[in-house]
Amino acid sequence: METDLRGLTRAEIAAALVSLGEKPGNAGAVFMAVHRRGATDLALLPNVPERVCRALGRAFSLRPLQLPERKLVAGDGTKKLLFRFSGDAPAECVVLPAKGRDTACLSSQSGCSCGCTFCATGTLGLKRSLDPAEIVAQFEACRSEAADLKSLVFMGMGEPFLNWENVKRAILILSDSRGRHFPQAKMTVSTVGVIPVIEELTGSDLRIRLAVSLVAADPELRARLAPMEKAYPLKRVLAAVREYCRARKALVMLEYILLPGVNDRPSDSALLAKLIEGIPCRLNLIPYNPPGGPGAASPRIKEFQRELLDAGVLVYLRQEKGADIAAACGQLAAGTGLK
Ligand code: SF4
Repeated sequence: METDLRGLTRAEIAAALVSLGEKPGNAGAVFMAVHRRGATDLALLPNVPERVCRALGRAFSLRPLQLPERKLVAGDGTKKLLFRFSGDAPAECVVLPAKGRDTACLSSQSGCSCGCTFCATGTLGLKRSLDPAEIVAQFEACRSEAADLKSLVFMGMGEPFLNWENVKRAILILSDSRGRHFPQAKMTVSTVGVIPVIEELTGSDLRIRLAVSLVAADPELRARLAPMEKAYPLKRVLAAVREYCRARKALVMLEYILLPGVNDRPSDSALLAKLIEGIPCRLNLIPYNPPGGPGAASPRIKEFQRELLDAGVLVYLRQEKGADIAAACGQLAAGTGLK
């Protein structure tokens, strides 16, 4: 199958033009035609010479921008959009409204191979990684549903760093000044701790923000809840994060999902505070959302926060949205007939 031009960065389009014997200088016009002018036919790219269109048409396809199959709207205005990508690969994205400063939460994979026990996506296993055009399609759908889209998080289905090349392409496409020009500084990529990509980001030009899901401070408990701990132990993940913060003079966002009776004891908060000591971070406590819908948050959530604040940690409670349509953290793929 021919490569979809919609999934290529501007630099990749320029390289493709060179290999087709054309001038790379047309890449900007091609990129703009596809990503800003909504071109759907490679033979008719606005402001692109006919000869270049013909050359591209021999080597590439331009598939239509995919649209969501279904939309659910929660009582709080959160919208969940369900896509069904080719090869029966469902994926969901979410628009989180916040008084004109909406956030889109995108999926990087259909399902996930990481198997975190508290996460509905993890129970699906991995169907497949999404390509850049499929990630861009989610963005476009969220953009048209949002009042004013101001930030983007890769916290939907999948582990973005296990599909990093495609996620990186999507970031470059979405932030390109000839396309949507969405600021990289308003994009956050969340990982459960894939160290090689954290190390790559440390030395990269990308201006995106990094979020790391801690899950548990105790290694044995973490290994039970998030099997990724076996490949990338949290202590080593946090060593890579310290270096990331030092080299980039950046703050990292740390996330801790609070599982009632599992990782919310006073000993857990004490261990957690010690583990992240000295890391320039903001810690978000996330109430656990059972896969089926809204459930009881940890009764200790406020105390847990207080214990961390007393230990000098900058910690916030994440306001959960969309739990009644299974759109909150850890719920994607639950109750939607995806399996
Ligand atoms: S929490 Fe993230 S990494 Fe873990 S199974 Fe769910 S989607 Fe995958």
